[in-house]
Amino acid sequence: MSKHTQDHFFAAKTCDRCGDPLRARTMSKFNRDTLCMACKQAERECPGYIDADDAEVAAVRGGDYNFPGVGLTARDREFLALRLAERRARDAQAHPEADAASA
Ligand SMILES: [Zn+2]
Repeated sequence: MSKHTQDHFFAAKTCDRCGDPLRARTMSKFNRDTLCMACKQAERECPGYIDADDAEVAAVRGGDYNFPGVGLTARDREFLALRLAERRARDAQAHPEADAASA
């Protein structure tokens, strides 16, 4: 992890992908996004996740500890947007008062 990436990772207060406040954090496999655990879970189910994981493992094995990731394909982005929309719908159902307060 480069110094800049590391600084961002520890300084980030919100998830790079969904914008929620971070309680626990982890790094994306696809790029350098700092993620909340819900986004990480969605990422693991992405169509391109296995390829992204393989590419990172291969890079580290080859001595590249600053591998930036393979990036998200259009298909992965679409999948993540859908999963986030589902999550927001579930959250709104579980906490209708919070939704009303922010509207
Ligand atoms: Zn998130």
